[in-house]
Amino acid sequence: MRKKTLSIQCNICGNEIFLYVKFGKGHLIRCWKNKIIKDNSIKEGKHVKCQCGNIIGIDNSVFIKIKKQNINIK
Ligand SMILES: [Zn+2]
Repeated sequence: MRKKTLSIQCNICGNEIFLYVKFGKGHLIRCWKNKIIKDNSIKEGKHVKCQCGNIIGIDNSVFIKIKKQNINIK
C-alpha cells in the first residue's frame, strides 16, 4: 500500500499541528491517532486546536475528524 507522510498545518499561523502517516489514496477526512507521529496540538474537551486557537478538529476517541477549511496539508 502507498504510504505518505503528511504535514498538517494551521492555515492561520502556519504551525505544524500533526505529522501524519497516511496509507492509500483518497482525501484526508480523519486522522487516526495511532498514525500521528508528531502531535503539537492542544486539546480542549473534544476540540483539537492549534496553539494560536484555531480549531483544527474534533476528537472522536480513536480518530480526529479534521476541519479541512482550517488546515493546510503539505
Ligand atoms: Zn495556528
